[in-house]
Amino acid sequence: MKRLCVIGDPVEHSKSPVIQTAMIRAAGLDMSYDAQWVTAGYTKAWLEYAKREGWAGFNATMPHKQALVKLVDELSDDAARIGAVNTVCIREGKAYGHNTDGAGFLRALRLAGMDPQDRCVLVLGAGGAAKAVVYALLRAGARKVVVANRTVKHAGALCSQLGIPGAMACGFSRETLYRWAAQSQLLINCTSLGMTGTDSQFEDLSFLDGLPRETGVFDLIYSPARTALLERAEQLGLNTANGLDMLIWQGVYALELFADKRLDETALAAEARKALEGML
Ligand code: NAP
Repeated sequence: MKRLCVIGDPVEHSKSPVIQTAMIRAAGLDMSYDAQWVTAGYTKAWLEYAKREGWAGFNATMPHKQALVKLVDELSDDAARIGAVNTVCIREGKAYGHNTDGAGFLRALRLAGMDPQDRCVLVLGAGGAAKAVVYALLRAGARKVVVANRTVKHAGALCSQLGIPGAMACGFSRETLYRWAAQSQLLINCTSLGMTGTDSQFEDLSFLDGLPRETGVFDLIYSPARTALLERAEQLGLNTANGLDMLIWQGVYALELFADKRLDETALAAEARKALEGML
């Protein structure tokens, strides 16, 4: 049996064991999946241990995604560009690092009817998730991606590190957000504002009033299912989606990497969604 897990600190909150176990069972794969608490600074020690003990692979959440970039034996193009690894496959003692966040986001975005091709996209936030999102948007043919962030230099660093033309950085003031919202056909929230467990909320959501009527609004947050941002966007009659499908699809793509074959993706995504019902 292939042993798999998610590593992180904290890791108790991770939904990966629930999602992956449901999908493994549905696909009839000979695999087990659990959560392993690995603290910051122990990424290298964990990887050596996992290789030695015959683990088949693992997913990584905070604080290991960046550290793994330098530790794996081979890195996929997506993981190298994004600068983060969320999936590691171990085969014959070698660790292969991948990133499925960008592909998972894109699948979820398209399922919500929000194709980014030739669109001008306003991305709020410039953290780890934003990097995968901006990369995926540019790869999918977005015309321009404006990255608005409280700390402007984080947005600037994100745009330059990706090394793909088409992204630009700006600040997070009401005026700036309103100005760019009015020129966008897609808005993606990659900040943690409104997430369950934080007290931080958008102070002012009036920038949403500037969005053209056909704009799609996608919030990476899935708990709560409807953030204040999504509620306001819905009231304005805009197409909205939360981050649940992104969570599910990054997991589907990770399982295909672990299994080293294509699986019935749609059926597995449905299984994962069913397993998460009532948990968020
Ligand atoms: P992160 O690296 O910590 O980045 C957080 C971002 O939020 C930064 O841009 C930060 O700005 C901004 N921010 C935090 N507090 C703020 C405030 N009070 N005002 C304005 N901006 C603020 O986190 P992450 O890993 O990118 O995750 C971001 C969100 O995406 C989280 O809610 C996470 O749950 C969600 N997420 C969802 C999925 C999914 O599968 N659906 C996957 C990954 C992440 P500064 O740079 O100024 O600090």
